[in-house]
Amino acid sequence: MEKLIANYHTHTYRCGHAEGTDREFIESAIAAGIKILGFSDHSPMIFPSGHTSSFRVPAEKAGDYFDSLTALKDEYKNDIEIHIGVEAEYYPHMFDSYLEYMSAFPCEYFICGQHFIYDEEKGNSSFGKTEDVNILSSYFDNLIEAVKTEKFLYIAHPDLVNFTGDDETYAFHAKRFLKVALEYDIPLEINRLGLEDGRQYPKDIFWKCAAETGNRAIIGIDAHSPGPLSDLPMHRRCIEYAGKFGVNLIKDNILSL
Ligand SMILES: [Zn+2]
Ligand SMILES: [Zn+2]
Repeated sequence: MEKLIANYHTHTYRCGHAEGTDREFIESAIAAGIKILGFSDHSPMIFPSGHTSSFRVPAEKAGDYFDSLTALKDEYKNDIEIHIGVEAEYYPHMFDSYLEYMSAFPCEYFICGQHFIYDEEKGNSSFGKTEDVNILSSYFDNLIEAVKTEKFLYIAHPDLVNFTGDDETYAFHAKRFLKVALEYDIPLEINRLGLEDGRQYPKDIFWKCAAETGNRAIIGIDAHSPGPLSDLPMHRRCIEYAGKFGVNLIKDNILSL
């Protein structure tokens, strides 16, 4: 792959930790030659406990998210293909009610970004460094269950869990997940933001295993401002990262919706 034609991982200012107008994101993507731009801000969610999240589109801004992007999708239809989705976690105890809530909106796709393990109301973040094999194991169990719902377009940063133990243990649990992902033929995301920021992901051992298993992979920019959409050297760096492990990248980064 020479360049990114499509990106399905784009946030907006509504999540509270991204900046720029919706229009600026679109203009930046067009400037970079991106033909398909998917928005996938952190999904609004109504929690059974009444918990409110500090990193999502608040429920009261959900209508505006879909309305604004729907209008721009039409306005720019001759310049770029826009899709409107969300990045969401898979929380089994509330997934049915979550899907019902989302059915009120014109949501075209869900990507799974498992920032918390099973239940964020209890604060089980996937980001914190841990040597605990139980956390590693439950993180991948949670992803396996997410894949099996068949509701997600792809899995964002599947290598998010910040396990600091040995590679052998990590690979054992990652492979349990990779086999199921392959069976369900769900693409896995190499996260460009993580690569740029030097985060715990993308994790080399994960992508080495994914290349061996043969999983399909897609690059997600995970843009939190307009600039990264047209940062071509970073796009290239991400493509090169995938190439280093022989990861099976999806042609032109394009998924059918
Ligand atoms: Zn994410
Ligand atoms: Zn994201």
